[in-house]
Amino acid sequence: MMLDLFPKEIRSFIIPKAGGELYYKCLGCLAEHSLDKLLYVCPECNEVLLIEDRNEKDLHKIPGATWQQIFDFRKMLKIPALKGIYRYHEFLGSCIPLESVIYLGEGHTPVVEANENLKKKVGLSFFYKNDGQNPSASFKDRGMASAISSIKYLIDQNLVSDVIAVCASTGDTSAAAALYASYLSPLIKSAVLLPHKKVTSQQLSQPLGSGAQVFEIPGVFDDCMKIVEHLADKYSVALLNSKNAWRILGQESYSYEIAQDFEWDMKNRVVIVPIGNAGNISAVMNGFIKFYKADIINCLPKIIGVQSEHADPVFQYYIEPDETRRKFIPVNTKPSVAQAAMIGNPVSMPRVIKITKEYNTFTNYQNVFFVQVTEQSIMDWQLTANKNGHIACTQGGECLAGLVKAIELDIITGQETAILDATAHSIKFSEFQDLYFKSAIPEDYKINPDPDKINLPSLIMPDNQDITPSQKKRLGQKDLQKFVKNISDKIARRLNLKVSL
Ligand SMILES: *Cc1c(COP(=O)(O)O)cnc(C)c1O
Ligand SMILES: [Zn+2]
Repeated sequence: MMLDLFPKEIRSFIIPKAGGELYYKCLGCLAEHSLDKLLYVCPECNEVLLIEDRNEKDLHKIPGATWQQIFDFRKMLKIPALKGIYRYHEFLGSCIPLESVIYLGEGHTPVVEANENLKKKVGLSFFYKNDGQNPSASFKDRGMASAISSIKYLIDQNLVSDVIAVCASTGDTSAAAALYASYLSPLIKSAVLLPHKKVTSQQLSQPLGSGAQVFEIPGVFDDCMKIVEHLADKYSVALLNSKNAWRILGQESYSYEIAQDFEWDMKNRVVIVPIGNAGNISAVMNGFIKFYKADIINCLPKIIGVQSEHADPVFQYYIEPDETRRKFIPVNTKPSVAQAAMIGNPVSMPRVIKITKEYNTFTNYQNVFFVQVTEQSIMDWQLTANKNGHIACTQGGECLAGLVKAIELDIITGQETAILDATAHSIKFSEFQDLYFKSAIPEDYKINPDPDKINLPSLIMPDNQDITPSQKKRLGQKDLQKFVKNISDKIARRLNLKVSL
């Protein structure tokens, strides 16, 4: 819709101008640093950073109901820079002018309600928000659109040039980083580090196709991360891991969209996310806090973070109820089908600790929970969801397993509705489905395939092997008729079909 058709009183708000006074805030020593250069940890104390806005209070001068209208009206615009995560420009990178925004179709992913069958099995009404329907097929595109737009902004101001972007990845960060960097080629080159044999072949093909330099490293993700941190420390590179605070900022859009998807009413809502490096859960909580402070949502939804028992450092940290006695200890991961979340030493742990505390303080009661699930339940619930119309990845399965666990533990009650993050598309992780269906999952995953869930193709051969078509040898008309009848009869018998009258 064209701007002059919008109501007069809202028109001046519809197209955002670059504004805000953003800066990096250190979570350790609380120092503030300028956004003018690429920065990932505090130069003074080496802690992680978050991006804050000195003018945040100005946003609160506009009534929440007006913000709601602004975002609803913005939905009708055809301006590419405002079609993705920057619909919420004022709340997530307001210093970036729209000319520097990179939009590849990220965000505004569908919210799909569970059907009656699945609701009955789970015992609660819930939705998946399918972040697998992003350009590189995972939620990582949200943070990457933000990080790459921020780099484009530095390039546009002549503050950086010849950028080499690097990241370590459990598969999806590298796919997103390579995709977004390739859009800015030749201004940006990208290199990704992957743990050898610990990403799926689909995930490996993505950065290769985008033209990134791909390095495979022995070990697990945590080892790759150490190398990338060393590179970022010693050399001039742009780090695209979620250590980069711009990534967190972009991923806050997930919460803004949930708020808008549910008409700004967060009462009795529960948002469930899987935890790996803990960037996403930090962003999701932060996003809801910002909208709550601006009076755009009426309350803070309950948050549940889920971890597999094979990679559960955050869950372990929160087992101790006494906050003063909690101590973070990295864990040694074991093989997990939720491979994108298979991280023993999450980079964003300090962010989770800070933001969880803040989140609970707002409500005055515990509103953030962490649950642990088995590998078996992750796989079983993923397959069950997908047999009921969803496209959840294994981490999406982990969310559903987490929902079931939370119901068991009475963390969730019957009046509540859950929104689950299907963080990637199922096809990225189809190798695990394949292994399950072929009963070939290696023993250390601790998964026994349930025969009722296995699904394999059946090859139907004709009785007479001589009448078999092939690409080279086509059948004559008579033989083809025989072949068609013979095979059709076999399929009809298998399906128990009745002859139509
Ligand atoms: C990265 C990723 C996660 C974990 O998110 P964090 O921000 O690392 O906690 C979960 N699922 C998928 C599909 C991912 O790519
Ligand atoms: Zn510091």
